[in-house]
Amino acid sequence: MSSAELPELDPALIQKTGITPRANVPLSQLGSFQLGGPVSCLLECHEPASLGEIRSVLHDQKQPSLLIGEGSNLLFSDEGWRGVLVRFTAGDPVPEDEGQGKWRFAASANLQEVVDWATLNGWAGLEAFNGIPGTLGGAVVGNAGAWGVQMEHVLCEVHGFDTRGALKKCSVAECGFSYRNSNLKSGEFWVSEVILQLESGEKTFLENERKRILDLRKARHPDWEKEPCIGSFFKNLEPSSAAERRQAAGFFLEQAGAKNCQVGGAGVYAGHANILVKKEKNCLAADVAKLARELQVAVKEMHGIDLEREVRYLGFIPGEKAGPGFY
Ligand SMILES: Cc1cc2nc3c(=O)[nH]c(=O)nc-3n(C[C@H](O)[C@H](O)[C@H](O)COP(=O)(O)OP(=O)(O)OC[C@H]3O[C@@H](n4cnc5c(N)ncnc54)[C@H](O)[C@@H]3O)c2cc1C
Repeated sequence: MSSAELPELDPALIQKTGITPRANVPLSQLGSFQLGGPVSCLLECHEPASLGEIRSVLHDQKQPSLLIGEGSNLLFSDEGWRGVLVRFTAGDPVPEDEGQGKWRFAASANLQEVVDWATLNGWAGLEAFNGIPGTLGGAVVGNAGAWGVQMEHVLCEVHGFDTRGALKKCSVAECGFSYRNSNLKSGEFWVSEVILQLESGEKTFLENERKRILDLRKARHPDWEKEPCIGSFFKNLEPSSAAERRQAAGFFLEQAGAKNCQVGGAGVYAGHANILVKKEKNCLAADVAKLARELQVAVKEMHGIDLEREVRYLGFIPGEKAGPGFY
């Protein structure tokens, strides 16, 4: 199948879901790094129920398919990707009250909008997630977090679809969370809904926290719409003892001179050595990956530390061993 061809999808898919497949959509339009070549077929899905219908049709038709949210943690190949990419995103969250502080959200909801809903309605627990881009589903899958709080700490249960499109529930234990990781990253389970456990909170406090955290992030992180990036590139390091905190990868990168490094149009954000940015318009995904490898070598040589990527790659990238899906 050439990347110019649209995979033949059963019209039943369109009849059932009302979704129109789009061919050869630039991946650069689908992620916060604004990099990447065309994907052969894109399905834009917003509703949890449609996600199951799509999955079951794609399974029946043996279509290679992957699910993404807002692409704020993904580096897409310059050559693009052949297969069906399902993008699960949505606007305003309208959660359902499950009682006792449990709220059910569509996984497609934008994470900041979920936090804003909680702030406005006096529900606490999500303050640390202020300013993290992406969808709620993407945040659960990657166990996103900041300031010592991770998604697993506020999660009650996830609902989603298995590879055949059957609806399943997954407990926190079944999700197998660890630092910026979970079993859900295998891609077998598409998260459609997320049940969060929140606590009653004081609105003024939540609003002040929102402002405080957004101001802090503004001072430390690039505005990805002006300076495209995908957040921290490498994972922070395990603490050397139970009493210690994780060691910031950015510290070691800065010591190794990361902030002065550039490959092609890719560079390092001046305010944070662990954030790789698109410095110039001609920047390629290949530049970013090469810069990342050079930084790993520099940190290894100076500190003997192997930095592990937090971000995931999709498609062929020179110098990397591409997987069939994300790697
Ligand atoms: C400026 C900036 C700052 C950031 N700061 C932080 C931070 O402080 N903390 C942090 O943890 N991250 C941070 N990130 C990274 C990113 O915001 C998070 O990883 C985010 O949770 C990704 O969500 P997404 O919807 O964009 O997922 P995507 O990037 O679209 O996808 C990531 C992975 O999740 C999978 N996935 C997405 N949705 C679903 C679903 N519904 N079901 C199953 N699988 C799914 C995809 O298959 C993929 O493997 C930052 C990024 C940027 C650009």
